Amino acid sequence: MEKIVAANLKMNFTYDEVKEYVEKLDGSKNFIVCPPNIYLHMFVNKNYSCGSQDAYYEDKGAFTGEVSSLQLKSLGVNYTILGHSERRQLFGDTNCTVNKKVISALKNNLNVILCIGETKEERDNNETKDVLKEQIENCLKNVSNVEKIIIAYEPIWSIGTGVIPTNDEIKETIDYIKDIFNSLYNNHDVKVLYGGSVNEKNIDSINSIENVSGVLVGGASLDIDKINKIKGVVLK
Ligand code: PEP
Repeated sequence: MEKIVAANLKMNFTYDEVKEYVEKLDGSKNFIVCPPNIYLHMFVNKNYSCGSQDAYYEDKGAFTGEVSSLQLKSLGVNYTILGHSERRQLFGDTNCTVNKKVISALKNNLNVILCIGETKEERDNNETKDVLKEQIENCLKNVSNVEKIIIAYEPIWSIGTGVIPTNDEIKETIDYIKDIFNSLYNNHDVKVLYGGSVNEKNIDSINSIENVSGVLVGGASLDIDKINKIKGVVLK
């Protein structure tokens, strides 16, 4: 199985900083860099892949501030993150809007990194599996072809906190996600990334989990040395 490293740069870097970052980057098609939209053009058509951090579901029109999957594809972007917890918590994305975005992204031939994950409260209430199942079923409603879908399992309580589940917990949850796909999509073996406080120190351990297809990295991806170390371990 070809593994994946996706870097979510979030809303970081000034123009001068991003120019310096781009100069130092290199990679493979399985390294996906997701910069802020205004810098996307600097990351396309390189020896790595380029993704957006979101994509609106209408192709064009009076939607001030939004960027569509059609526009992203036309620029040479080939992936999009959808359903990130920050979009859900800060910008009102729901499983229903994420579903529309997934359908539009697939229609426009983008690969989708669909983020799912439970809050701390849901985890403490033993609701993790129910939440993940609901997210998968609703975000992928009326989606029959899932070849271009990658799941990023990101426990929300782990994002940016330095606290991560045990390897056994990650394995069990990813097995569960794979089981859901097997039953919904005729034994389709979906790729599942782990995301949440991945860094250059814990990557060896996370990468050793047998069913992890790669990682989605936030904070550590801002540092070239750290992301290179992570790439070196996962994409070797
Ligand atoms: C993320 O926000 O997708 C993420 C994984 O962030 P971090 O690596 O900083 O926890």
